[in-house]
Amino acid sequence: MTTRPIALFDMKAQQSLIRAELDRRIAAVLDSGAFINGPEVRELEQKLAAFAGCAHAVGVSSGTDALQIAMMAEGIGRGDAVFLPAFTYTATAEVPLVLGATPVFVDVDPVTFNIDLADLEKRIALVRRDGRLKPRAVIGVDLFGLPADWPAIEAVCAREGMFALDDAAQAFGAALGGKRLGRWGHATALSFYPTKTLGCYGDGGALLTDDAERAELYRQLRTHGEGKSRYEVLRTGMNGRLDTIQAAILLAKLGLLEDELVARARIAEGYGKGLSGLVQAPTSVPGAVHAWGLYSVLLPDGADRASVQETLKAAGVPSGIYYPKPLHHQPAYAGAHRASVAGGPPPLPVSEMLCTRILSLPMHPYLTQDEVSRVVAALRAAV
Ligand SMILES: *Cc1c(COP(=O)(O)O)cnc(C)c1O
Repeated sequence: MTTRPIALFDMKAQQSLIRAELDRRIAAVLDSGAFINGPEVRELEQKLAAFAGCAHAVGVSSGTDALQIAMMAEGIGRGDAVFLPAFTYTATAEVPLVLGATPVFVDVDPVTFNIDLADLEKRIALVRRDGRLKPRAVIGVDLFGLPADWPAIEAVCAREGMFALDDAAQAFGAALGGKRLGRWGHATALSFYPTKTLGCYGDGGALLTDDAERAELYRQLRTHGEGKSRYEVLRTGMNGRLDTIQAAILLAKLGLLEDELVARARIAEGYGKGLSGLVQAPTSVPGAVHAWGLYSVLLPDGADRASVQETLKAAGVPSGIYYPKPLHHQPAYAGAHRASVAGGPPPLPVSEMLCTRILSLPMHPYLTQDEVSRVVAALRAAV
C-alpha cells in the first residue's frame, strides 16, 4: 500500500510528466525576452479557442480580471444590477462592486449547486418592480466543474436584453449539449490559478467568445484601452495581460488536459460508487460533461463537519470547505445585498444550508484508485 500523503490538489505529479517540456518552453521565453505579449500568448489563445471550439480566446491576467474586462466591455456600472449565485467564490461578486454595479444574489439548486432559474426569474422581476436598478447581466457559475443550466440562462438573458457571462473558472473542459464551455452565453471567463483544471504557475486567465467585436474590445481593455497605435487610448482599460511565461507553461500543460479530464471523471465515478448512501455525492445533469474541478459532497443534516474533517485528517485525508459562508453574509457584500431591493431581498436558504454541510474531498487527475478507496473508507469511518 502506498504511503504517499494524499493531496487535496496535486501539481507535482503532473509537473514530473512534462518537466522537460516546461523547461524547454520557459527557456525559450528567457531567450527571446518577449515577456509581455510574446508569441506564446497568441499560440495559447489559438489553442484555447480550438480546445473549446469557439472563435476567439483572449489571454488575461487572472480569472477575476477576465470577469472584470467582460463587464467593462458591456459598460456595466452604477445603477446596474448583476445577478449571480450567492454560493460561489468571492471574485464573482467582487467584480460588479468594483465597477460600481450592484450584485443581486440568487439562490442555488440544492442538487447541482448552480444558479436556481426560478429564483433568478423572481429576483429579476423584483428588481424591475423596485425600479431603482437596471437588470444588465447574469453571471452563471459552473460550480465545481458542473455546467450551469445555460440554455435557460441564455433564454432569460435574451428575453430581458441582458448580458450572459459564464464564470467557468472551475470548469474548463466541461461541456453541455455537445458544446464545451466557451460557447455558452455571450462570453466565458476562465481562470488559470494553479489548482484549476488548467492551471499555470502564478495568476492567469482568459476570455472566450464567438463574438469578434467583443474579442477586440477585450484585447483593448486588457492593454489600457489602447487602440492600434501604442499611445492612442480609446477607452478606460486596465493592465490585464497574461504573462508570456505563464502562456508558455499553459502550452506545456494543455497537451495533458484531455487525459486529465478523463482521469478526473474516473476518480469521480470511484467516489460516487464508494460514497453512495453515505453522503449526497455530486450528480450529473443530462447532456452535461462535468470537469470535476472539485469533488464536493453534502454531509448529512446535523453531521459535525469539523469533527469529520479532524477524523479525516487523522487518517491522512485532507479536505476543504468551498465555501464556508454565502456571499450575502460576507461583511464586504452584506450592505450592498440589503440595499439591492427596497425593504431587503428575499432569503437565500439553499446557499446558507450548503455552506454548513459542504465538504470537498481530494480531487486531482493523479489520485490512484487505492487513494480513492482510502478516502472513501476514511469518510465512511468519519461520518
Ligand atoms: C478561481 C475563481 C475565480 C477567480 O479566478 P482568479 O484567477 O483566482 O482570479 C472566479 N470565479 C470562480 C468561481 C473561481 O473559482
